[in-house]
Amino acid sequence: MRISDVQTIRLRFPDRDGYADAQHRFGERAGVAVRVHTDSGLVGHGYIYLGVSIHAGAALQTLIERQLAPVLINEDPYMTRLLRDRMWHALEYVGIQGLSHFAITALDSCLWDLMARDLGVPGWRLLGACRDRIPAYAMVGWYYDDDDDLAKYRQAIETAVSDEMAGVKIKVARGSLEEDIRRIEAARSIIGREGVLMVDANQVLDRNEALRRGLVYQELGVYWFEEPLRPHDTAGYTWLCDHLTMPVATGENHYGRYAVQELLSAGACDILQPDARRTGGPSEWMEIAGLASAHHMPIASHGGEGVTTHLLMATPSAIWCETGGVPRGRGMYTDRARIEDGYIYAPEAIGFGTELRDETLAMCQVD
Ligand SMILES: [Mg+2]
Repeated sequence: MRISDVQTIRLRFPDRDGYADAQHRFGERAGVAVRVHTDSGLVGHGYIYLGVSIHAGAALQTLIERQLAPVLINEDPYMTRLLRDRMWHALEYVGIQGLSHFAITALDSCLWDLMARDLGVPGWRLLGACRDRIPAYAMVGWYYDDDDDLAKYRQAIETAVSDEMAGVKIKVARGSLEEDIRRIEAARSIIGREGVLMVDANQVLDRNEALRRGLVYQELGVYWFEEPLRPHDTAGYTWLCDHLTMPVATGENHYGRYAVQELLSAGACDILQPDARRTGGPSEWMEIAGLASAHHMPIASHGGEGVTTHLLMATPSAIWCETGGVPRGRGMYTDRARIEDGYIYAPEAIGFGTELRDETLAMCQVD
């Protein structure tokens, strides 16, 4: 089997029911779907969500089609790690960060999807599984538009509780500490005193403010304090971990194993949160999982759909999968993992679950 073509499709998602965290308001959003074709007729699928960086899709498309596709054409997709290294060399002059890493991730995901399809197995089985389900929490406590009375916020948390999600995460730090306390207490009144409640500050605090708020959050029984500081402030994270008993979680904005190794060796988090787009694809996710294991560091994924579900089933130190709650409707992918009784279950469909539905493409395709 040889790679014969690489195709990208840009997607744009309209602004519907706006929601926000401390840093961004998520109105119009974008993504890029990638397909790697082979001479056997098999197609490997990958997908990169670009969030609010809606004009980044064209740049990512160029990197994949012009810079990386020539590296893959006529090659054997089973030589995944060799091809990953060649893609790295093709882009290292401009830095293996940001869009460069997204481009490598997308294609590495396609190669793993191709292998799973060729072997006729779900992705997690190919990786060597350690479980067939993992606890799933719901990231539903956003800042919603026109929600000063927190009615939409409460409704979202009530739905997660009635769906028996194993935990609820809320956004904090867009406003004052007093506002955070109001949000935490509102959530607590719904999930109960024993309920698992995480908070996420999305990088906006400085060290002293993170400690001031963190001391209050931990008194309120918060389960973890996510991304209080900029991802680059490794020393600040180490300092904060030393001053709080509540776990500090971060890692969703670290690109690749070298950045994660720096974080882990500095003792700069209590829970590592790799993002499957930023790890460098399944190849590098599994290497990061090994690094985390050697540092006795639990993993909780950033995001949980598509390829992430499969990776968590093969990551022994993983403890949580992030989700948006129990899905309503059919979602964007052809396959979707089942969420039930507080767990997300290993998908049975062949591949890594990253093929977009025709309806998704018809509604959101840009070109
Ligand atoms: Mg986060």
